[in-house]
Amino acid sequence: MNILIFGPNGSGKGTQGAIVQKKYNVPHIETGVIFRENISKGTDLGTKAKEFINKGELVPDDITIPMILNRLKEDDCKEGWLLDGFPRNLAQAEAMYEALQKENMPLDYVIEIELDRDTSKKRIMGRRLCVNDNNHPNNIYIDAIKPAEKDGEFVCRVCGGALTTRSDDQDEAAIDKRHGIYYDTETGTMAGVNYFKERVTVIGVDGLPGVKEVSEDLLKKLG
Ligand code: AMP
Repeated sequence: MNILIFGPNGSGKGTQGAIVQKKYNVPHIETGVIFRENISKGTDLGTKAKEFINKGELVPDDITIPMILNRLKEDDCKEGWLLDGFPRNLAQAEAMYEALQKENMPLDYVIEIELDRDTSKKRIMGRRLCVNDNNHPNNIYIDAIKPAEKDGEFVCRVCGGALTTRSDDQDEAAIDKRHGIYYDTETGTMAGVNYFKERVTVIGVDGLPGVKEVSEDLLKKLG
């Protein structure tokens, strides 16, 4: 099962992606996570990517496109994959679609989580990351996934672990830049979404309700 998931930063794409990943038992490949792992390991790729990520800009296509297309050829992707954070612009969407056709790889589902720009921004600024598990959702502005409190501090609502923020999540200018890229229908991510809409069925899901409602809607549409 090969699945692409789109959604602006802050739409709950990561949370819903984890649910879809469990349903189909395929690896959840998140471009941003691959970059952050490389940054924390201090690899060459990480060093190159960091300067763009911290400014809220896309890492250049000549680094990102081969990195992802190669990742999908690894052993754990033999039974499928869930790709999150790629394609992020029209050029990546075209490269992805062409690579799939060339490799004769089917695209089973394309999911789009729809959310307006203001709500997405607020959600990003409230996001907290669990140090134990990237897939434990915590957000100080969303009641359904509000962190627990211990000794006056927020802790992970799932495991009680410490919480951190991503450095690029608290920088409003960087968020605006990222959203500028996402909502851009000329060459940005929405241009990529529209490119897929012209070629395959895209499953649209309203990202405004709570996590549970959104996942119920999504799972129903996936059938
Ligand atoms: P994310 O965790 O998806 O919000 O990604 C964090 C950052 O990684 C983005 O703001 C970009 O700088 C970079 N990034 C993630 N995915 C891509 C991509 N497909 N192409 C270029 N840069 C990306």
